[in-house]
Amino acid sequence: MSDILELTAAGALAKIEAGELSGDEVFDAWAEAADGDELHAYLKTTEREGEADGRLGGLPIAVKDIFCTEGVETTAGSRILEGYLPPYTATAVRNLQQAGARVLGKTNMDEFAMGSSNENSGYGPVRNPWDRERVPGGSSGGSAAAVAGGLAPWAIGTDTGGSIRQPAALCGIVGMKPTYGAVSRYGMIAFASSLDQCGPLTRDVTDAALLLQVLEGRDPCDSTSTGIEGGVELPSREDLSGLRFGVPRELSGDGIEPGVRAVFERTVGLVEELGGEVTETALPHAPHGISAYYVIAPAEASANLARYDGVRYGVREEAGDLTAMYERTRAAGFGPEVKRRIMLGTYALSSGYYEAYYGQAQRVRTKIADDFRAAFASFDFVITPTSPTVAFRLGERTDDPLAMYLSDYCTVPMPLAGIPAISIPAGLAAPEGGAGELPVGFQIAGPAYSETRILDAAHALERAIGFDARPQA
Ligand code: GLN
Repeated sequence: MSDILELTAAGALAKIEAGELSGDEVFDAWAEAADGDELHAYLKTTEREGEADGRLGGLPIAVKDIFCTEGVETTAGSRILEGYLPPYTATAVRNLQQAGARVLGKTNMDEFAMGSSNENSGYGPVRNPWDRERVPGGSSGGSAAAVAGGLAPWAIGTDTGGSIRQPAALCGIVGMKPTYGAVSRYGMIAFASSLDQCGPLTRDVTDAALLLQVLEGRDPCDSTSTGIEGGVELPSREDLSGLRFGVPRELSGDGIEPGVRAVFERTVGLVEELGGEVTETALPHAPHGISAYYVIAPAEASANLARYDGVRYGVREEAGDLTAMYERTRAAGFGPEVKRRIMLGTYALSSGYYEAYYGQAQRVRTKIADDFRAAFASFDFVITPTSPTVAFRLGERTDDPLAMYLSDYCTVPMPLAGIPAISIPAGLAAPEGGAGELPVGFQIAGPAYSETRILDAAHALERAIGFDARPQA
């Protein structure tokens, strides 16, 4: 059984196809591992259901609790949705099930995907398998910790400003945010609809490609979904010759802790050894990404979260009249970060301030997208560290929302521009101030719909990096 847990999803699938393992055996081995969860990566594990057939052979998958699953409690990490049983399943999960994957459990997350550490979960934080006193990143921290901690072979999450890539980096696994529209958002509980995107968290790049092949597609239930024309190919590239990489100075210098910068620079050296051409470039507006994101995302969230009023979903706090019932339900059901975002967003959209905040943020967003367009005229990819720091201590940033928001410095520009990016583990580094070494992620971003090319480049680099460290815990 322990051998099964050593396999990647693609590795397990090969053994199922060769008749050496059955899909049920693989599922049961992972279910047993998931039941031993000491990281609080799961909010709920589920029974084995359905047949072990289809392309994915009955493989189990961990699903972030932001995806609606018919008849299975779905909370998005919020107390306000406690007990909510969705009447339908999200398209992304449905696509996986139709391909023969089976849900292993629903993973813990920051409430409504707002956070970078998982400490905003209404159900208590997730622990990082590399150091249980540290955060796994967020908001898809449960999915990342499950994969890194040997509690799931692979997982899906969502990324609005970095929530797949940053936890993947902090947990030492692969995470990819696809192009906006590549994967349907139908049944994915909305945070910021113009940014939210579903994607894979996996042990290696091949598994990320395999998962994205099944996830992507146009969905008549999501009018913003496009799929990826031509689909996604499994990666095979072993060198980077002929490829041009731009290193934006704004996202790779100041503010990046020394250990992370050292791993980044070493990895840039490997890109060159593999034949890639690396040049410094500029994304002049990228440093304003955080400011624009923290106006746009809360603005959209304030509208999306208006639906939680105690009438239709989850929790209701009874009161003498309707308005008081709304107020009491929302006061009791939402956590402090969600309330902060609703207030920020409502303020930014209010008459008299709309142009000064929301309008201005949208203009910055356009400038950031223009910067990337200009960079991609000269480069195939832009490369940066994924997170300015390695995993931080539980509680370290909870009293300082601005310090928490800076975790997203290198990851928010891509969703603002709608473009895809992957984070792969590049090595280990000690945190500033000392302590044991922790994983560092390397980010590769490309133009819209360049997923196959990004995965191919990441595959070549992954081989050269040869990251094989594992959490001790
Ligand atoms: N950390 C960012 C936030 O708090 C990103 C979250 C996300 O991508 N869902 O909004």
